[in-house]
Amino acid sequence: MQRLIEILKSFALWDLLQGLQLTGRYLFRGKTTIQYPEEKTPTSPRFRGLHALRRYPNGEERCIACKLCEAVCPALAITIESEPRLDGSRRTTLYEIDMFKCVYCGFCEEACPVDSIVLTSFADYHIENRGENIFPKEKLLAIGDQYEPLIAKDRKEEAPYR
Ligand code: SF4
Ligand code: SF4
Repeated sequence: MQRLIEILKSFALWDLLQGLQLTGRYLFRGKTTIQYPEEKTPTSPRFRGLHALRRYPNGEERCIACKLCEAVCPALAITIESEPRLDGSRRTTLYEIDMFKCVYCGFCEEACPVDSIVLTSFADYHIENRGENIFPKEKLLAIGDQYEPLIAKDRKEEAPYR
């Protein structure tokens, strides 16, 4: 009997009809795809994207070279060297992040006592040449300068969940 049912289904193109039924069900529903990069989906303020080093409003670097971010990084992606300035304050002479090693865990951001190293919600970036995966301090500061309004906004929105 089962065999007969299978033969009848086969002649009636049952599987094809089932597929068409599914297609018909979704035919007039709204599209779920977007035209990236012209269109973008909303990003959470807690999204962990491109790294940045921030400055205070007077232009001074926030980083005090405590090296907590370097110590906490599980991927050993951060390298820091530091020395005291003439005024006695301590600042980094070298701050690098290897983006190939980074796992975007956000531990560096969590560990930073002065809100200096942050992960922005900006994710559209790429590198083209060998060695560009190492982001030096100057580049990280430039990213911070460029995206400071976005960083400040995200951190304000994120605050209620902290
Ligand atoms: S996000 Fe995580 S892996 Fe990447 S640099 Fe920070 S601590 Fe290291
Ligand atoms: S970025 Fe923050 S945690 Fe890392 S060395 Fe600078 S002050 Fe310390």
